[in-house]
Amino acid sequence: MSLSEDIKDFGLDLGYSKVGITTADGFPTYVEELKARYEMYAWFIEGVFQPIKGADPKSIMPSAKSIIVAVYDCSKEAFPEKLVGKIGRHYQARCYLTPRDRINGARRQLMRQFLEKNGCEVAQRLVVPERLSAARAGIATYGKNTFTFADGIGSFILVTAFVVDAELDYDEPTMREECPPKCTACIDACPTGALYEPLKMDPRRCIAYNCFMAQDGFPAGTTSYVPPEIRDKMGSWIHGCDICQEVCPRNQKRLKAKLPPNEFLVKAAEDFELTKLLNLTDEFYARTVQPLMYNYIREKKYFQRNAAIALGNTGDPAYIPDLAQAMQDSEELVRSYAAWALGKIGGSQAKQVLEASLARETCQSAKNEIEAALVAA
Ligand code: SF4
Ligand code: SF4
Repeated sequence: MSLSEDIKDFGLDLGYSKVGITTADGFPTYVEELKARYEMYAWFIEGVFQPIKGADPKSIMPSAKSIIVAVYDCSKEAFPEKLVGKIGRHYQARCYLTPRDRINGARRQLMRQFLEKNGCEVAQRLVVPERLSAARAGIATYGKNTFTFADGIGSFILVTAFVVDAELDYDEPTMREECPPKCTACIDACPTGALYEPLKMDPRRCIAYNCFMAQDGFPAGTTSYVPPEIRDKMGSWIHGCDICQEVCPRNQKRLKAKLPPNEFLVKAAEDFELTKLLNLTDEFYARTVQPLMYNYIREKKYFQRNAAIALGNTGDPAYIPDLAQAMQDSEELVRSYAAWALGKIGGSQAKQVLEASLARETCQSAKNEIEAALVAA
């Protein structure tokens, strides 16, 4: 058996659904696109990921010859109803690239060790354009919603790429969009207009970005501020957004399939409440939040902000006492977004809480949010 076949077999053994191989040639159109949309992607270009370098693997690793691309199916098991619409399916499936001591990071680590054992040098920390790599390696095609789709699965997949110095057998590329010609369901459904034309998305307007990238200084140059017009559209999402994938006809077979339950998620869902996320205790954080959403959000206050937005978007006065409690939180960010939520719910009870909060508030940005909320309430 050739090394290429061995690698593919090992990848399947690890639980990946598809493994393809392409050359380590660069991705010049990707670089052009990123540069043309610098304003939208500055946080990504200038951050730790270094995608422009990653798009030319040989510039970082001159010996690079091949990219091995693996697709993991994130939707083999059912997602509890209580978490759907709040946490994106990729995150429920814990498909983060890191850390190594969690399941997906461990899978990557095992693949890396296998490649090294077989004489390959594997690039360290090189982030190649993974979706493009998957299409060039013949294991995925594009959708107008910017996601990649794997045959027989759909877009709820995780793509992982390994750049190596070995010359391998290359697969036939499938670099094409395979949507029904007249379909625009994803663009029509995107609540924020982030998906503004086929294959083009402005991350700054995307709910997912605002859930977990909007943190002060993470990634480079970002802030925790979520614009009010985006807050309104975030609905109940607190970690990711699946809307443009949920409406997609290419995902319906899997979304409608009867899948086995995942006991870890069933247990997490039993415990999960937005009100608990809002007034987040160390115990709830350690028991339920961290095991599920461990990779992007670095501080509890961002989960609390997202919960406040989601509760505000319910418009339900039943949550006023929880929001009133959040108005006493030690974090200015939490008080600010709880104020927004109270303004969104509105009514005399919400106004009373806001007025009492304004009287004791000492931080200027929280004061501004409370005053704006009082106008809205
Ligand atoms: S993930 Fe949500 S907000 Fe982002 S582009 Fe898709 S539908 Fe729009
Ligand atoms: S919703 Fe339609 S246009 Fe959008 S990705 Fe799916 S098939 Fe393509």
